[in-house]
Amino acid sequence: MAWVTAAAPTPGQLETCVTCGLCLPHCPTFRVTGDEVASPRGRIAAMAAVADGSFPVDATFAGIMELCLQCRACEAVCPSLVPFGRMMEGARAELAVQRPGLGGRLRRLVVGRVLPNRFLLAFATIGVAVLQRLRLAGRLPGALRRVAGVRRLRLTRPPAPTLPSPAAAVRADQVALFTGCVMDQWFPGVHDATRGVLRAAGLRVVTPHGQTCCGALAAHEGATADGERLARRNLAAFSGSDLIAVDAAGCSAHLKEYGGWAEGGSSLAERVRDITELVAELIGEGRLPALPATPTRVAMQDPCHLRHVQGIVDAPRIIVRAAGYQPVEIDPDGLCCGAAGLYLIAQPVMADELGRRKAAQIGGSGARIVASANPGCEMQLRSHLGNGYRVAHPVELYWEALQRSALH
Ligand code: SF4
Ligand code: SF4
Repeated sequence: MAWVTAAAPTPGQLETCVTCGLCLPHCPTFRVTGDEVASPRGRIAAMAAVADGSFPVDATFAGIMELCLQCRACEAVCPSLVPFGRMMEGARAELAVQRPGLGGRLRRLVVGRVLPNRFLLAFATIGVAVLQRLRLAGRLPGALRRVAGVRRLRLTRPPAPTLPSPAAAVRADQVALFTGCVMDQWFPGVHDATRGVLRAAGLRVVTPHGQTCCGALAAHEGATADGERLARRNLAAFSGSDLIAVDAAGCSAHLKEYGGWAEGGSSLAERVRDITELVAELIGEGRLPALPATPTRVAMQDPCHLRHVQGIVDAPRIIVRAAGYQPVEIDPDGLCCGAAGLYLIAQPVMADELGRRKAAQIGGSGARIVASANPGCEMQLRSHLGNGYRVAHPVELYWEALQRSALH
């Protein structure tokens, strides 16, 4: 049995790979293992073998696919424009159907049903918050220990939507905030900073009712139907918004690819801006000030879905510099930190190795503050860096600096 779903990699996609191997040095799992089957080219060869019926969708194939971080560093450097991300999502959709497994079922339940459900997420959040207050979060076994990288959680309700219906009148100075799944409850400081900075630039920030998780994690786990359902909901919720600001890089990347997830999805995609590109633009236009420079260094960590998928590299550096800090480069290749959605739970050995490598790069930079524009990366970095380091979104750093400057 070859492919059985409509999401499977197509012959046309598979044929775009000319096996040049230029992507190999950019692939984190190939860098760690040196193994062809842990490389983009090896993974594409395995998909092609399944497509022509010469290789089964068995445990070996699942292992080859599941070690991939879906970081898309390979796609960013591929001269043949291989749509690797979409192909891997298709391969994961096949595994979800042909080799569902208990671990995969649980992960798809979490990303497809629990994270998009505000009540279930609030319940889980209270559990983690209690563990944090009992100082037990870091002592949890195995994969659950990853919660140690979550910020100290608030025991308060997230703010309610401020725009009651998608049909509400759109104003020219209006920005709709995409609140996502965990950002409201686990990273409220990022939303606070986003609202504060956009308001400081004279924009009106609204939070459309009815929005939900972007569906990126569902897509990565092969939960195609859930990914499509979430995309349709967001499409309706943001139908009245001309400009959509997103302060989690994984979400902005996925929303920009809604054309492949819902009918009419590209109409939403073209209205989405990652908050880093929006704020950098506002700084460039003089609508937000560049604050006085200080000698404090900030290590720049590029989330894969910001750098490789959206091609956004300069914007976070512009923001950090405008906040008065000195941006410090830690990794010219922008290798994945190992977070990659639920990867750090599904593939803890590789995730830990990549997390250790990234923490060592940060440690070598001499910076004690790290700028990262994605919540998953922040959790991974915090759990590997430990005390003595601060990890924050670039817009949080800018908002704090702006508030300090207003006091003087
Ligand atoms: S994915 Fe692209 S870069 Fe990698 S081997 Fe194929 S054609 Fe070359
Ligand atoms: S997505 Fe990332 S981990 Fe997967 S093959 Fe490409 S570079 Fe390697």
